[in-house]
Amino acid sequence: MSGTLAVPLVCRTSGELDAALLAHRSAGHAIAFVPTMGALHDGHRSLVEHAVTLAPVVVVSIFVNPSQFDDAADLTRYPKDLAADLVRLTDLAHLAGSASASRAGAPGQLIVYAPGVDDVYPDGPAATIHVADVTDRLCGAWRPGHFDGVATVVDALLRRVRPDVVVLGRKDHQQVVVVRRLVEQRGHDVRIVAAPTVRDPDGIALSSRNQQLDSDGRARACGVPRALAAAVMARRAALGSATPVRVTALVAAAQEVLERAGVTVLDYLEVVDPERIVEVADVLDPDGEALMAIAVHIEVPGGSVRLIDNVVLGDRDDEDRLLAAVGAT
Ligand code: AMP
Repeated sequence: MSGTLAVPLVCRTSGELDAALLAHRSAGHAIAFVPTMGALHDGHRSLVEHAVTLAPVVVVSIFVNPSQFDDAADLTRYPKDLAADLVRLTDLAHLAGSASASRAGAPGQLIVYAPGVDDVYPDGPAATIHVADVTDRLCGAWRPGHFDGVATVVDALLRRVRPDVVVLGRKDHQQVVVVRRLVEQRGHDVRIVAAPTVRDPDGIALSSRNQQLDSDGRARACGVPRALAAAVMARRAALGSATPVRVTALVAAAQEVLERAGVTVLDYLEVVDPERIVEVADVLDPDGEALMAIAVHIEVPGGSVRLIDNVVLGDRDDEDRLLAAVGAT
């Protein structure tokens, strides 16, 4: 058996998904899961590529979850094009098939689970799951109910897919922390892997929302990764001169870059503990890690686009990837 299945199999209901996974489950094939809201870009694709290295069976969900939108206009504007998404996954279906063929084991398969709202919430709006503490700050504070929506849908999807491993993007760092807590809280037996942020050549983190930026907005949005890079460099300069690394100084360095770029509407620019998402002392431990996270609104004709980005200060690889992306190495 060649085992190379070259197009993603599309399941529109959990019944179809069960049927597609049945043979894999009974053969004991590992399943990797990549949850998405579609409008797939190279950031999503990098998660799927990573998933292919982790398991012969990869399930990508495409579901724009209404309950995680705290702004109805944002939900309406959110790009939705399943046909285009499937095209973007075709070569990855080949990859899944051939990666597994080369393992000489389970036939590889890429399965797209693209359910409707009724399939995910058959009894109407689900009882909401709340993940406490790690949702008190950053997007948790600025988007009321957002992480309840995320936790609720991820729980529902995990119960359907029952994966061995879930691959998430570090671009949504707080979401990774929330999902890790959710998995502990609900007793899901699954490993969570966080993959690096993929950026455009101008340093901007890929996001489905970037489609809504005009060229002027895009030029201003470049200030976001540059602001993070300025904080990385300020931290390195302090370490190099053996002076204390102060959060206030790092935030000031980032803030200055945002202002110069013309980014004026901020939800937050904060440095927090990367695991617990709580405030850190002003003087950072030189050997420790701290998350600098930014959420801004970029004004465009007819509205604004909310963008988030982050860097884990003290995580050399994360810092270096960011500096390379903004051309600051
Ligand atoms: P979304 O479709 O926005 O819900 O994102 C689905 C998954 O893709 C999440 O785990 C995100 O963190 C991840 N993701 C989104 N943008 C990027 C990016 N630029 N690089 C890497 N992963 C990303």
